Amino acid sequence: MHPELAADLDRLPALLEETRQQALAFLAGLDDRPVIPPRSEPPAAEPLPEHGGGLPAALTEFAERWQPRLSASVGPRYYGFVTGGSTPAALAGDWLTAAADQNSNSSLDPAGQHLERQTVGWLRELFGLSPAHSGTFVSGATMSNTVGLAIAREWLGERLGVDVAEDGAAALGRVRVLSGSAHSSVSKALSVLGLGRRALTVVPVLPGREAVDVAALERALAEAEGPCIVVANAGTVNTVDFDDLRAIADLRERYGFWLHVDAAFGAFAALSPEHADLVAGLDRADSVCVDLHKWLNVPYDSAVQFTRRPDLQARVFRNAAAYLGPLGEHPDLVHLTPENSHRLRALAAWFTLRAYGRAGQREIVERCVAGARALGEAVTAIDGLRLLAPVRLNVVCFTLAADPTPERLAALAAE
Ligand SMILES: *Cc1c(COP(=O)(O)O)cnc(C)c1O
Repeated sequence: MHPELAADLDRLPALLEETRQQALAFLAGLDDRPVIPPRSEPPAAEPLPEHGGGLPAALTEFAERWQPRLSASVGPRYYGFVTGGSTPAALAGDWLTAAADQNSNSSLDPAGQHLERQTVGWLRELFGLSPAHSGTFVSGATMSNTVGLAIAREWLGERLGVDVAEDGAAALGRVRVLSGSAHSSVSKALSVLGLGRRALTVVPVLPGREAVDVAALERALAEAEGPCIVVANAGTVNTVDFDDLRAIADLRERYGFWLHVDAAFGAFAALSPEHADLVAGLDRADSVCVDLHKWLNVPYDSAVQFTRRPDLQARVFRNAAAYLGPLGEHPDLVHLTPENSHRLRALAAWFTLRAYGRAGQREIVERCVAGARALGEAVTAIDGLRLLAPVRLNVVCFTLAADPTPERLAALAAE
């Protein structure tokens, strides 16, 4: 064995202890470090070392060269986007994920997928979804939207009597995807899926809102030739607006479309009795996207994709190989997402759900909403600032009251 590798294995407990100390120092410094360190050039690249010096050398160099450049996004002073941090339990779960290093994709080695399925069951309960929804872990909401829309694509094939998984997206002809204020990742997914970004038809929104105008959506559906996909939005990133999911689900009774709901962080409104109505009707969706590295506060990268049609999902992502065995009624995870091998991504979510329960997750959401409300009130009280939308949940969207030029806004954001 290479001597440096052998030496690291010999003193693994001491080295992991040193790593733990370094992690703790990073976390302890969150209150002092800049939220985003000042923009700087990357350090000069160095050649791949012939002799590395083992883990101690890597720890030292990371601490000196890279760690100071990292943001404090995991800390409480970071207000950018709707990203989250890590709860203590989620962090511990993520450490143990790496320690166990499982490839949790098949029943040849099944514990990982058993744990994932039970964790999905907890998440379903958390968001008020019925057992008709099955779920799979993916790397983020973009991937969750992509998988949901891939299943929708297969459903269009079923409606039109063509087999998209075998014959390709061209067999569908022109596809229409209707949405009011779709997240940018939806266009990306349509490009990846061969449906094309132009498949997205933007439906008018309500005046002064980001929520879709349901009457306009109905007109668009009445005019469309053939079956459509509707992407409903439960929590837009700019102003956290919510489409009327119940009304849209009612439209589906008449127009027979695939209803995908992007509830990346909006699904967490279900945890707060005061806000749960915003996502009423979520369970009626055909597919649902929920991000976990945002409001569940697990480390990157983690999201879940729910669907009522796992049969179509397996048709899209089937990875048939003699050594993997037949698909069966409950296909292995390897047949359900774009990934084959993947880490035991569910473990961090399992840890935080097990550690804090439903009440703990609700407290996190409600405290965050209270914080956003307080910030919204503070912004309202400042003469030079103006809210651009009411604070509906966890985002405060505001601007300069006068002369909001790009330069002045950039200066404000930097502050
Ligand atoms: C964050 C977000 C996404 C994309 O999520 P990633 O985790 O960055 O892939 C999609 N939709 C909505 C509404 C989001 O908030």
